[in-house]
Amino acid sequence: MLVDSHCHLDFPELRSQLPELLSRMAAAGVSHALTISTTLAGFAGVRELAQSQPNLWCTVGVHPDERRDGREAGIDELVGLASHPKVVAIGETGLDYFRVEGDTEWQRERFRAHIRAARACAKPLVIHTREAAADTLRILEEEGAREVGGVMHCFTESLEVARAAMRMGFFISFSGIVTFKNAKSIKEVAREVPLDRLLVETDAPYLAPVPHRGKTNEPAFVRHVAEEVANLKGVGLDELAQATTRNFFALFRDARPAP
Ligand SMILES: [Zn+2]
Ligand SMILES: [Zn+2]
Repeated sequence: MLVDSHCHLDFPELRSQLPELLSRMAAAGVSHALTISTTLAGFAGVRELAQSQPNLWCTVGVHPDERRDGREAGIDELVGLASHPKVVAIGETGLDYFRVEGDTEWQRERFRAHIRAARACAKPLVIHTREAAADTLRILEEEGAREVGGVMHCFTESLEVARAAMRMGFFISFSGIVTFKNAKSIKEVAREVPLDRLLVETDAPYLAPVPHRGKTNEPAFVRHVAEEVANLKGVGLDELAQATTRNFFALFRDARPAP
């Protein structure tokens, strides 16, 4: 049994083929998936997807690449939306200095609001960070994120960053990038992250793993990510699947596996 800990099933290319995606998940041994919110406007659709299936959950949050659109999600609003039983985390949130040019103070303010919301509702955080690792770690520390923990999703940073996040109680999640031939440094990090801190994800519809690279990604493909990480760590796929599934349900405490 594997879990896709991070995908975007509400994006049109996936939403339009949900029944087929779910049956390919089952066929690949992927029992559960977490579909991730990126905008407030899209949240209702994300929640509806999670509500429609016993093996799907969702998050609530605004992605750091989403420019301010006049109105920021307040802490109370996030906490209110997170009270739905299918919402198991706050995110994705974090910092992305790669995609956004100019003043990024609004990203840091939004990130802090998300961490405060997560603490207020005692739910873990799903963190996106790109070219902003030092600020991401600093703000997590300053805002007391260790109280709720979370996951550094689609991890592409150094081993030092992974270790600093793990010291705050965070999990490290690898995506299809770890299967890419040229991803040597990420493969090194995956080798070093202990089994009890690991998660796997697709970030579908993006970043399809080898051998589907360049195509639309989907939760069933998390199996290829898991196989690669298991190989790198020198453990069997079963052992890796058990560990990452156990970690998923330990982190996302409000998710209950379907009987
Ligand atoms: Zn992300
Ligand atoms: Zn994502």
